[in-house]
Amino acid sequence: MSRFWSDVVKGLTPYVPGEQPKLANLVKLNTNENPYGPSPRALEAIRAATGESLKLYPDPNAEQLKAAIGKYHGIDARNVVVGNGSDEVLAHIFLGLLKQARPILFPDISYSFYPVYCGLYQVGFETIPLADDFSIQVDGYIKPNGGIIFPNPNAPTGCLVPLADIERLLQANTESVVVIDEAYVDFGGESAIPLTARYPNLLVVQTLSKSRSLAGLRVGFAVGHADLIEALERVKNSFNSYPLDRLAIAGAVAAFEDREYFEQTCNAVIATRKRLVGELQALGFEVLPSKANFIFARHPQHDAEKSALALRQRSIIVRHFRLPRIEQFLRITVGTDEQCAVLVAALKEVFAA
Ligand SMILES: *Cc1c(COP(=O)(O)O)cnc(C)c1O
Repeated sequence: MSRFWSDVVKGLTPYVPGEQPKLANLVKLNTNENPYGPSPRALEAIRAATGESLKLYPDPNAEQLKAAIGKYHGIDARNVVVGNGSDEVLAHIFLGLLKQARPILFPDISYSFYPVYCGLYQVGFETIPLADDFSIQVDGYIKPNGGIIFPNPNAPTGCLVPLADIERLLQANTESVVVIDEAYVDFGGESAIPLTARYPNLLVVQTLSKSRSLAGLRVGFAVGHADLIEALERVKNSFNSYPLDRLAIAGAVAAFEDREYFEQTCNAVIATRKRLVGELQALGFEVLPSKANFIFARHPQHDAEKSALALRQRSIIVRHFRLPRIEQFLRITVGTDEQCAVLVAALKEVFAA
């Protein structure tokens, strides 16, 4: 704290990202990165964009990327807004669409950046408890509100809300914006993007960080009715005209064009997830049904925090949240088959000790 700080800064509670330790030979299963790396075509496009042209500002509207996203999803590029990671898009959504007279609603166990944005932008919120099986039940959100947001699949549980339930929520909730954060949808979920054509209050957010393995490039986007997009463009153009640099635009466009690599790597993660779940269940873990590139599991006999520490001593890092209801869970990113085998072998050792 310093006397030079503004009152706003004094009141902030910032988000704490998963750690990025700079150790060699680490089995890093704590921040849901994709183990397979970006499409070789995306890397080639980034290299090709590295030259004299970097002296020039990028396209402030990233038209080429909006067109590539539009083509991929079969929608008009005018229904797309892009940002420096979906976290930035989400920030603009909280200020531009969710800051309303009534509190917004999100799950009690969810992406921990949502309450941080509420703090930054002074957005009132109410949390809706997950069901006992840790699923999101949309009926709990059918009441007056200033907006609704949840990830689908949810984080850190991995549980998916069926699209039919999202549509039921949209039919019951026509007076505020419903934001579906689809950071993990490509690992077995069904996107709500097609519903944006019929529901003018639906906004769907996606990222290239997880399924397209470009967390380091920082590209995210949202899809929705032109009026919602215009609100976000107004915020974006009042904050940073050039959120995406030339390399990010080039790499992201190429990533969308390489559908084959994308599908192949998503399928590999899904296949490994299935094996990992079986192996953890064989060790006695209770594993929540995951449609994400991570699993959320607890062991009835072994304390989660102690297990996480023991794994860390073996250079394996997973995520543990010291939060009510989930303090006995570990969130484990689905790595390669080799990484998951190392994890399972280490857990066997830890539990035997
Ligand atoms: C990872 C994640 C994001 C943020 O992704 P970036 O595009 O890397 O900023 C957003 N929402 C959820 C639920 C996430 O897990």
